[in-house]
Amino acid sequence: MSFNTLGLSEAILKAISKKGYNEPSPIQLKAIPPILQGKDVLASAQTGTGKTAGFTLPMLHILSEREKSKFRPIRALVLTPTRELAAQVYANVKEYSEFLNLRSAVIFGGVNQKPQAATIRQGIDILVATPGRLIDLENQGILSLKRVEILVLDEADRMLDMGFLRDIERIMGMMPAKRQNLMFSATFSKDIRKLANGILHHPVQVEATPENSTVDAINQKVYRVASGKKSDLIIKLISDGNWKQVLVFTRTKHGANKLCKKMISAGISAAAIHGNKSQGARTKALAGFKNGSVRVLVATDIAARGLDIPLLPHVVNYELPNISEDYVHRIGRTGRAGASGEAISLVSADETTYLRDIEKLVGMKIPKEILEGFEPDPNASTEPKKQGGGRSQRSNNKPKRNPQNSKKSDQSRRPKRNNRR
Ligand code: AMP
Repeated sequence: MSFNTLGLSEAILKAISKKGYNEPSPIQLKAIPPILQGKDVLASAQTGTGKTAGFTLPMLHILSEREKSKFRPIRALVLTPTRELAAQVYANVKEYSEFLNLRSAVIFGGVNQKPQAATIRQGIDILVATPGRLIDLENQGILSLKRVEILVLDEADRMLDMGFLRDIERIMGMMPAKRQNLMFSATFSKDIRKLANGILHHPVQVEATPENSTVDAINQKVYRVASGKKSDLIIKLISDGNWKQVLVFTRTKHGANKLCKKMISAGISAAAIHGNKSQGARTKALAGFKNGSVRVLVATDIAARGLDIPLLPHVVNYELPNISEDYVHRIGRTGRAGASGEAISLVSADETTYLRDIEKLVGMKIPKEILEGFEPDPNASTEPKKQGGGRSQRSNNKPKRNPQNSKKSDQSRRPKRNNRR
């Protein structure tokens, strides 16, 4: 199946061909036609499936076909949970709209708002934004969403996880009721369905992979290991396997820093990426990882969300996430765009319950191995270690919007749990 049959304009096909895409991915094949017909769409798709083009291409087509007003009000809004994802979606919008007469901008917290405000004042058709900064700028009268025709909620599950529900509701109230709504989510919890019911009208449902299941192309493996031997084991795996590009997940920011230091002392180039790092440090770490000067990127879940690193060969869970869905998100960073990948989890006794929950969610037993010299501690307790986080705590910790704090960044508004990340 080629892109030519989907009904996209020549200018968009030209941009796609410049990107080197030969054929639409499954989610693009399923999502583009109903979006072009003006329908609301609820899509189940992880990062790596080509979901961004899945909503961006038809959105650009629709906007470019419709009449433009001289003042360029914002006609499409893409909401994303993190700055990294916002920047990435924006980069895609720019690329795919290269041959169209459409203007776009991206806004997110943690950086000076002035340049963002200046771009918006010139008039833009498409705005990519994180919720906090969007609300701030709307409150200041810098932007208006009253003419929005298309809304995209990207990674909606992560937005709820990060406590953005109230922000999303506020943003809905800033837009006209009549508009096209597109919602993308990797997982579908009861909360997500509730949110979808409130926003979407008779949505067409499309799926790239079966719900809550892991991509077949990913080779998953568990190493049972004593918790005190994890850092030596990961260093051995990376060195022996001569792995060149590894994304490692830790549960906490402190854990990410500590592991990163150990890697560096073992002679492996590594960088950490998490919520305490400045935007500049994160961008630098990611650029180093992409160009090969950084072999290991150690990340927390939130920081890693939405990073676009095509064809990632190895993902390691240094610690299992206490929320099973995060496992699906994490390993979704490998085996991208049809390439095979390997997802390895280092599991100590205290993570036994997490592993059981994950296996239940993905519907399979993950093969287990023990390496000589790195055996699990037979006397260790299987009780989960106290870590002060979890789904219930996360949803109880909705960020409270305080008008006096309205200039704070998105990061500083996040629920308490995420401050640990
Ligand atoms: P996404 O799921 O949107 O994060 O996209 C994952 C990666 O797949 C990105 O690097 C895209 O540039 C790439 N991609 C998107 N659509 C296609 C396609 N039809 N063919 C090949 N690569 C694609």
